Amino acid sequence: MAGLPTSLLRMMGIVVACACLLGCNGSKESASAVNANDRTASSPPVLSQPQGSANSPQLSSDAPAAETTGGFDGNKAYAHVAKQVAFGPRPSGSQAIVKTQEYIESELKSYGCAVEVDAFNADTPAGRVPMKNFLAKVGGENNNGIILLGTHYDTKKLDNFVGADDAGSSTAVMLELARQLCKQRGRYPVWIAIFDGEEAVQNWSETDGRYGSRQMAAQLAMTGELPKVKAFLLADIVGGRNPVFKRESTSTKWLVDLVWSTARRLGYSKMFVEQSASVEDDHDPFLKRNVPSVDVINDFTATGYWHTPQDTLDKISGKSLAITGHVFLETIKALQSRK
Ligand SMILES: [Zn+2]
Repeated sequence: MAGLPTSLLRMMGIVVACACLLGCNGSKESASAVNANDRTASSPPVLSQPQGSANSPQLSSDAPAAETTGGFDGNKAYAHVAKQVAFGPRPSGSQAIVKTQEYIESELKSYGCAVEVDAFNADTPAGRVPMKNFLAKVGGENNNGIILLGTHYDTKKLDNFVGADDAGSSTAVMLELARQLCKQRGRYPVWIAIFDGEEAVQNWSETDGRYGSRQMAAQLAMTGELPKVKAFLLADIVGGRNPVFKRESTSTKWLVDLVWSTARRLGYSKMFVEQSASVEDDHDPFLKRNVPSVDVINDFTATGYWHTPQDTLDKISGKSLAITGHVFLETIKALQSRK
């Protein structure tokens, strides 16, 4: 889908190390992707009282009060990142990912959501790897028009890589969204998918990486539910201190427009910018099956810590998590009132 950008990416010399070249997301299209100028205007984060946590006494989140972000609590989301990071590196099939799976499942259930777990084996270049997808379901009045949210929770298998931003941040956002949404019932169902195996085991390709999303898209197609999904909102790498979300150019235009206009209305245009870039990610298997989809993802090549041991908790901003969550909540509201 975005083979060309890959070569451009290589040409641009952004690639830090071959091993993680396409580990998370395929590629970026424009040379402006790494231009840091558009982030310099960001105001410094205002530090608020950190939420206490026995595991992370140094926990420090800059999240605004939940009332200002539609009820989405950025401090709670930040604590979910801290919890995941404390489990250590969480590649598919590892002991730490089993702990993460237990955490995700118990959190989702504690919010009152029905949770479906799909345990499957993925055939990877390194052999068969056990994986688990989670699908939390909030019912609605009309089953034709499911609003699907999603992220991956596995981390790239690299030495000392704890993946605070990739994929701790977006997993945290989904958990906090679930806390908000599981107590609501709208016109349309809201399903929250948390995928295993987004990261490539060796080299990112059509068959290495996106194991969980490919599995879920195929499953939902088999049960006949996939055509009922009216929109898929994907989040990935959303917790950085000054993230730049570009309009992902393979995503469905009307849905990108809806998310970006929602962000603009809420005053988040500094984070949701008008530039575009192409990224391969977990929305691809859904796009291929004609599900309107959008990927909200940071300009990860510009972070400097993507797929390195520096992707640690100190890189995470509760404010960025809260803004992402707020935009998702408001977009869901708009989708609920859209036929
Ligand atoms: Zn990644």
